[in-house]
Amino acid sequence: MTALVIAEHDNATLKPATLNAIAAAAKLGADVHVLIAGHHAQGAADAARLVDGVTKVLLADGAALADGLAENVAAQVLAVAAPYDSIVFPATAYGRNIAPRVAIGLDVAQISDIISVESPDTFTRPIYAGNAIATVQATDAKKVITVRATGFDAASATGGSAGIEAITAIADSGKSIFVKREIAKNDRPELTSAKVIVSGGRGVGSGENYHKVLEPLADKLGAALGASRAAVDAGFVPNDYQVGQTGKIVAPELYIAVGISGAIQHLAGMKDSKVIVAINKDAEAPIFGVADYGLVGDLNEIVPELVKQLG
Ligand SMILES: Cc1cc2nc3c(=O)[nH]c(=O)nc-3n(C[C@H](O)[C@H](O)[C@H](O)COP(=O)(O)OP(=O)(O)OC[C@H]3O[C@@H](n4cnc5c(N)ncnc54)[C@H](O)[C@@H]3O)c2cc1C
Repeated sequence: MTALVIAEHDNATLKPATLNAIAAAAKLGADVHVLIAGHHAQGAADAARLVDGVTKVLLADGAALADGLAENVAAQVLAVAAPYDSIVFPATAYGRNIAPRVAIGLDVAQISDIISVESPDTFTRPIYAGNAIATVQATDAKKVITVRATGFDAASATGGSAGIEAITAIADSGKSIFVKREIAKNDRPELTSAKVIVSGGRGVGSGENYHKVLEPLADKLGAALGASRAAVDAGFVPNDYQVGQTGKIVAPELYIAVGISGAIQHLAGMKDSKVIVAINKDAEAPIFGVADYGLVGDLNEIVPELVKQLG
């Protein structure tokens, strides 16, 4: 049994969710190989070879793979897929963009968003916005799997010593072109791997108030900032802040929900957090149903007071 993990990377380093995908692949009881499809990507390959549990790194280095275009990366995966029993992706925007193209290329059903490996062909995955967990058994000989990062502890980034095999990079498919990348500059931890998240909802009132009230708390705690969809839709913050069913799935050690009602679609993205603190002026707000600690009151008073108490 050998599994191939498709690494998400920026050519120099691995994105954190790749380590969770590697941990999931190891649970398949398989030898774990990692594909780095990129350009000038030796740095990412060097990082992958050191990950605990990885036994081989395939490095496809070519201009067509520079920007991670899904059409080209999927073609690269299909070019090397033959010997593998499982092809494993992180269930991030990157992995979700490529996995279906690979599944259709192999004529197999994709197994999406797994949160556990019960056996090499049986997995659990959340359905109905996380309100039920389905156990699915895959009968296809080759399995194309996306892994929800919060379901698996990350593999250690060190401890491995795999070899790197350079493979032929595919030519450009010509189906898409890279236009530009706009990267939000942010000194804070990445939302999906942050240990602490301060998240604001419609209740914070405005973008200006969001920054004024929440940033000092996030600064004190070294936290990432998140938001509800209502806060994003109202333009308080960009949409990459969104936590929830149609946003990011997070499971930090501490999630502080400020002025968030706790709609089911928001809970779907954060209810696996270890400790949840809710600050809301409505004592009946559903967020208190999942909160470990609740503060009922005006966020404009409570949050600055909290910052003061934190010293
Ligand atoms: C298909 C679909 C997908 C969706 N995906 C997502 C998703 O991914 N993520 C997501 O978040 N939502 C998602 N939603 C939207 C979701 O249903 C809710 O509308 C949204 O989560 C509500 O955001 P909110 O809690 O910020 O706003 P509201 O529900 O309006 O709640 C605001 C809260 O702030 C409190 N408040 C107001 N003023 C104060 C104050 N001064 N002090 C303290 N508390 C105060 C209020 O009591 C209230 O509880 C989705 C909806 C659909 C239909």
